[in-house]
Amino acid sequence: MSTSSRAFSTAQVQAGFTPGVAENTAIPSIHQSNAFEFTSLTHARDLFALRRDGNIYSRAANPTVLVFERRVTELEGGIAAAGVASGQAAVAVALLALAKQGEHIVAARQLYGGTVDLLADTFPDWGIEVTFVDQDDPDAWAAAVRPTTRALFAESVTNPIAQVLDMRSVAAVAHSAGVPLVIDATVATPYLQRAKDFGADIVVHSATKFLGGHGTSLGGVVIDLGTFDFSAEPARWPQLNEEYARVRGASLVERFGATGSPYISLVKTKYVHDLGPSLSAFNAFQLLQGIETLDLRMDRHSANALKVAQFLESHPAVAAVHHPGLESSPWNHLTSEYLARGAASVFAFDLHAPADPEAAFGAVEAFISELEVIRLVANIGDARSLVAHPASMTHSHMSTEQLSEARISWATVRLSIGIEDAGDLIADLDRALSTVPLTHIAARAAHH
Ligand SMILES: *Cc1c(COP(=O)(O)O)cnc(C)c1O
Repeated sequence: MSTSSRAFSTAQVQAGFTPGVAENTAIPSIHQSNAFEFTSLTHARDLFALRRDGNIYSRAANPTVLVFERRVTELEGGIAAAGVASGQAAVAVALLALAKQGEHIVAARQLYGGTVDLLADTFPDWGIEVTFVDQDDPDAWAAAVRPTTRALFAESVTNPIAQVLDMRSVAAVAHSAGVPLVIDATVATPYLQRAKDFGADIVVHSATKFLGGHGTSLGGVVIDLGTFDFSAEPARWPQLNEEYARVRGASLVERFGATGSPYISLVKTKYVHDLGPSLSAFNAFQLLQGIETLDLRMDRHSANALKVAQFLESHPAVAAVHHPGLESSPWNHLTSEYLARGAASVFAFDLHAPADPEAAFGAVEAFISELEVIRLVANIGDARSLVAHPASMTHSHMSTEQLSEARISWATVRLSIGIEDAGDLIADLDRALSTVPLTHIAARAAHH
């Protein structure tokens, strides 16, 4: 069967792996080897010159990692991918390959905390400027673009508030500026949304989360969707169109433009090679195991999360629920277009709690301490349901102003709903919510 015609559920189990002729293993092997033996010095020379494909050293390429890269590439509808050690590494190398010192990136304000640190703190140290905009404001995206802009960056579904990006409108801004749209699709996964269908050019994932799905292995991946033509304006992309010192005699576009991805070649041979955030064979194996059940898990995650969100919305101790599947969500109108298979299972809600941060912290702490099924863990996308308190955990370094821009208060609780029984999750939340003192609710109601 041609690979383009196979269904998502077939690709997630089979893509990228041809059972080995030598070992006949039915599932991908863990190739736990730092390096690979050459048949001759001429063979070695050809591999080092990128004239031939093959394994040299596992920092640059590993056969188990390669299966993972091919499988994710097919699920996203891309042309090539680079597997890396973490989602954080994926975001970093994806953007470093596009923007260098003196250049500029426009990014959504509503990003994962680690990405905010990278873009707001570390990139400026390196002379890469970043402008943050409200992702729901297309005019703000357009106004932020400069001649030196090299990428637009956003998450398709944000964490913890689960904002749904109107990706088509941001893609239109990127393409009229002549730069690619880079999307962090960690929360949506290619099952709930294929970013390529909505104008994205490059996708990154923290595979640590839903792709792996079981909370065991860090990993990340950068996928070139093959939609952006880096040779259309060669002067803008010298790293891809000028002779590449590491290949000699050719640019990456000349070498890989017809058959592969010049961009992913740059990510691998320069940024992963030089900075070293390689994905281990063992973690790639774990991530592949997770991907095999991606559609089954995402359907359950998504259905469970909607039931939990509906329950929370009806509870008197809950002030607001930030889930795009609810009609009360400002992003509900985007879900039928962008998340037709279901909304993601990472979302947040606000307890009815006093406005004072310390008092609100106390109320959230009392609530969380009563949870028995849902665990207090700083992670998302696990098979287990997890709870977190953004204001004191993931977003603790943010100012009050940044928190309120992100719609996070001290009473905001984040959930990553797992694949357990929805009734057990709801019973757990119901019991814990009974600890929220109703006096706060009465006081707030009287106040408003
Ligand atoms: C977790 C996460 C990251 C970072 O991934 P790691 O694998 O933890 O390095 C990046 N983006 C999003 C949206 C995330 O949730």
